[in-house]
Amino acid sequence: MQCKVCMQTFMCTTSEVKCREHAEAKHPKSDVYACFPNLKK
Ligand SMILES: [Zn+2]
Repeated sequence: MQCKVCMQTFMCTTSEVKCREHAEAKHPKSDVYACFPNLKK
């Protein structure tokens, strides 16, 4: 699991909630899916 915007890596056990928190905290101007395309359903 890696944020595509800042290239920060997360453990594979990181939950989707944590990814969303990261995106909202670090990249409020970016869509969460821009950071984590893997979250797309
Ligand atoms: Zn990031």
